[in-house]
Formats: sequence, C-alpha cells, structure tokens
Amino acid sequence: MSNPIMFQFFHWYTPDDGNLWNHCKEQAAWLAKLGITHIWLPPAYKSARGTWEPGYAVYDLFDLGEFDQQNTVRTRHGDKQQYLDCIKALHEQQIQVIADIVLNHKHGGDETEKMGAREVNTANRQEMSDEVVEIEAHTKFYFPGRKGQYSNYVWDKESFTGVSEMFDGQEKIFLIQHNMGDNWDQMLDDEMGNFDYLMGADIDYRNPFVRDEVKKWGKWYVETTNIDGFRLDAVKHINYRFFQEWLHYLKDTFQKDFFCIAEYWSNKTEAIINYCNALGKQSLMYDVPLHFNFYEAAQKKNDFDLRSIFDNTITKELPECSFTFVDNHDSQPGQSLESYVDYWFQPLAYALILLRVKGFPCVFYPHLYGASYEIDREGQKMPIEIVPVPALDKMILVRQLLAVGEEYDYFDHPNTVGWVRKGTDEQEFSGCAVILSNGSDGNKVMELGNRFAHKDFIDITGNRTEKLTTDEHGKAEFHVNAATVSVWILEEGAALIQQYLNK
Ligand code: CA
Repeated sequence: MSNPIMFQFFHWYTPDDGNLWNHCKEQAAWLAKLGITHIWLPPAYKSARGTWEPGYAVYDLFDLGEFDQQNTVRTRHGDKQQYLDCIKALHEQQIQVIADIVLNHKHGGDETEKMGAREVNTANRQEMSDEVVEIEAHTKFYFPGRKGQYSNYVWDKESFTGVSEMFDGQEKIFLIQHNMGDNWDQMLDDEMGNFDYLMGADIDYRNPFVRDEVKKWGKWYVETTNIDGFRLDAVKHINYRFFQEWLHYLKDTFQKDFFCIAEYWSNKTEAIINYCNALGKQSLMYDVPLHFNFYEAAQKKNDFDLRSIFDNTITKELPECSFTFVDNHDSQPGQSLESYVDYWFQPLAYALILLRVKGFPCVFYPHLYGASYEIDREGQKMPIEIVPVPALDKMILVRQLLAVGEEYDYFDHPNTVGWVRKGTDEQEFSGCAVILSNGSDGNKVMELGNRFAHKDFIDITGNRTEKLTTDEHGKAEFHVNAATVSVWILEEGAALIQQYLNK
C-alpha cells in the first residue's frame, strides 16, 4: 500500500461517555485493513468545565485525564491510560498517530487577577480605546489538582495577550497592557485588523517563559505518548515564529521530523500559502478553499462548473503541502464554522480527494461511521442524523489498491468531468476511470492505454450496474448517473476489494 490517508477519529458531538479512546483502539485493526495510514485524535488534555466539548477549551496541557481538575479526572474521550493504550494499539497496526495540538488559548483559569487593559473593537482589533481600564480576568492557572507534577509553571497575566470578559454586562475583548508589550503579537495577515486574539485567555508567545514552558510540554508530550505527528490548531492566531522555534526544538531533541498539518481556517489561498512558506513548508496545510469549493458546488448543483472545482485551492497552487478534506468537526451541522457539504455531493468530493494524485486526504468520522446528535438552533432542540457516505469504504480501498499511476484528466464539460489513473505493473489490477456528474446522466470516452485493451470494467460504487469492455487501446465510453460518481475498475480489482471488505 502506497497512498497515505488520514482518518479523523472524532467529530464535535462524539458522545461524552469517556469511551472514544477505547472505541478507537477496538477499530484499529479494521481501519488498518481499509488502508488508513494515519489517525488524527482529538485534543487529549483537560478542558475547562470538564467534558462538554472535544478538548479545544484547553485548561491544562499536562493533564491527559489523570488529575481531578475541572470536576473530572477523565476527559471527554477517556483517561490517560486509555489514551496511551489506544496509541499503542494503532502503532501495532502500523498506523501513525497525529495529536491535536491546541496552543492558542487557555480557558478556566483557577483565579482572577486585576490588570490594566484596553477594550478593542471586536470587528477590528487594531481599533481600541485610548483609555486603560482596570479589569479582573481569569488569567491565573496553577493547576491545584496536579500540584506541580510534570511542571510547576504558573500562568498569569504576563502569559497572555488578551482576554474576553464580561464588562458592564457585556462580553468584551480586552488587550492586556503588560511588560511583554502593549499591542497584539504580529500576524502575517490583516484579517480582523489583527487576528491574534481568538478566544479565552490568548497565549502570548513573545514571553520567553511561555515559549520555554510549551517546548518543555512538547518534549514531555512526545515522550509520554509516543505520538508521531501534530495537527496544529488555529495557527492563523499564532505568530509563525513560535511554531518555527517549537518544531525546530522538537526536531533537535528527538532527531526526527515530525509529521505536521496546520489548520489555517481561511478561504484566502494566498494567506494560507504565506503561512506555509513562513514555516519553511515544514507542515501540510488544510485545503480550506477546496472545502468551500465543495460546499459551493453542493449548493449550486448543476449551476456549478465542475471544471473549476480546484480553482484557487492549495491543491492547485501548492500541491506538495495540500491536506484535503470534505468536512470536519468545525464545519459539521451545529458548529460555528458550519459549511457542511450537502449529502448528495459528498461521494463526488471524496472521489476528488481520494482518487487523484494531488493532496493528502482525510476522511471524517461520521462519513464512515455515521452519527446522530442534537443541536440547539434558535433555542430549539434539533436532531441531526449523519448517514455514512455511500461506498466510502470501497473508495478508500480503491485509493490504496488501485488508484495509482499516471493521471489523465477529462475536465471538458461543466457538468461531467472525469479522469483516469493508468495503474502500475507493481500493483495488480490497478488503474481506474472516474466520472462525476452534477447534472443529468452523463458519459465520457476515456482511454487508459494499451495495457487495458479488451478488459471488463465495473463501477465499484454500484451506481451503474452494467459491465463495460474497452477497445484495443483501452478506451471505452464510461457512464455516470445524474448527480453521482462512478468509479470504474477492472472486474478483478473489484474482486480484490471485496476480499479486503470480507476479511
Ligand atoms: Ca493568539
């Protein structure tokens, strides 16, 4: 198996039963059989207010479900030992484990402190009051439940750039005035004037004690958990120089390159590429613009020109750093960045990320396993039911076993596009012909080459049920039903995939 593929083993509404690490451990062997090479696990450390969200409201980076803090020992996903056992089980299946690293902010401070601060305009953080007011904010973290184990660093107002607090009965954002500076840390892009501040108590990486503490934590985390790589959360809000220093330190300490993906949530391709370049391309970048193209294509149906699906994306502009996905825990129904790709388009989107040469793809948990949960919408409880994407398991196996070799595109019609993968001699029965329609039933003459002369092809998705036979050049007219995808593979290839599914 040669093609890498990541699996995001959670979503925002993963049940709060402390069972995710166990569940992942139990699924490790099956995911390995499907060909999953990397698994992205959610944040493993203690969140503020316990277990109400997946772990992005970080309270204590050193508490992996070990100490009685924030009214719980375990995290939403389980306790420390279960987390370590899960990683071990994944390693036994040769799956690399990617840890979710949330370093922009902290929540749930143990005590308040008084400090001078300026109120900022939430829509433009460069605009702020002239007047310095005294506020009282939750910026003191000394982790009474952990009692100095692993680290005795105490976070205080000098460790943060800003906070949001209730002031005069309203939630407001304040820039803290302290020794590290009286303005925000510098960002590369000017979104929101300056988007250093995201939420909670926002960490100030100009503070050398903070940088040392987070480096120390990184070393401890790798040694403790044996994880293989990092998913860097919310990098848009953190000066790239900190990550340069942090990654360099870990590389130096462990004498290895850690696999790295950075989440820069923006539809501005240039801003994402700038950040990637600033990191010296040490990290893959989420192809957020491609996700938005999928979202738009799903909304517009046959008014969307499929030939433009990769326009303005990381996959097109910086393919070696592209990390592709259809949806994730931030875009799923109910979430703040909700931009969920409509159900009918999901199989098309997965074909576009799984079966082509460019991009490192990621599969989202509910798309393979399904999910049901409840959200609050305008005060009303609303049930959400996510059903698995049809034939997704088969498409993952096609990626692993057959979607190899030279790629040739037939992006020649606004509503029907296709491509072929010509296969290799090394991978038996490899090669495929993929065709997508966002309009009516379609067809396209595509050629796989002489190796495929007079061969029988079937559509592994099951959308088309006939058998097609190529001519002496490996050419045939391939079919697709309205608003679906068909993945045509050799009959023998289909038998091979069935063997994997039966295992
Ligand atoms: Ca920040």
